[in-house]
Amino acid sequence: MRVAVYPGSFDPVTNGHIDILEKISRIFDKIIVAVVHNVSKQALFTLDERVELIRESTKHLDNIEVECFSGLLANYLHSKDACAIIRGLRTVADFEYEMHMGMINKRLIPEVDTIFIMADSRNIFVSSSIIKEAALLGGDVSELVPEIVKLKLEAKRREME
Ligand code: ADP
Repeated sequence: MRVAVYPGSFDPVTNGHIDILEKISRIFDKIIVAVVHNVSKQALFTLDERVELIRESTKHLDNIEVECFSGLLANYLHSKDACAIIRGLRTVADFEYEMHMGMINKRLIPEVDTIFIMADSRNIFVSSSIIKEAALLGGDVSELVPEIVKLKLEAKRREME
């Protein structure tokens, strides 16, 4: 069985992430979305909320599992018997960082390759951080995130008022 891991913060999941998942779900037998606790990024949603939002937004795909993960990605990949790490590429700025991550992961776990999927042109400018900023200031992000995420962002905004 070809298992791929798609790691990321997903704070929150956006249409950009969903597009990547729709593409790779056709290529691999099973995709594990690994929601990472990133200490250097201030999160708006808890890990459990992020997992739930991804589960709700990927109900139309039948080979996606969603889990939280912390620690070394290489160990996690090994424990899941994964053959690939999936990452999305939007711009050249993404590429530079991703290339370094891909190289270190290749060194740590040589049997696993990083596979880059190009962002759809509609989603090039879509990032979780831009979405959060716009939504919390009252901007309409309904075209950029799944409906459930839009509703959760509205709830967060009301909590902060
Ligand atoms: P991280 O903190 O690991 O970058 P993100 O949730 O921001 O977590 O992104 C997870 C992955 O999804 C990364 O590979 C990122 O490049 C990709 N990604 C994020 N937004 C988009 C988008 N709009 N289109 C395609 N890929 C994206």
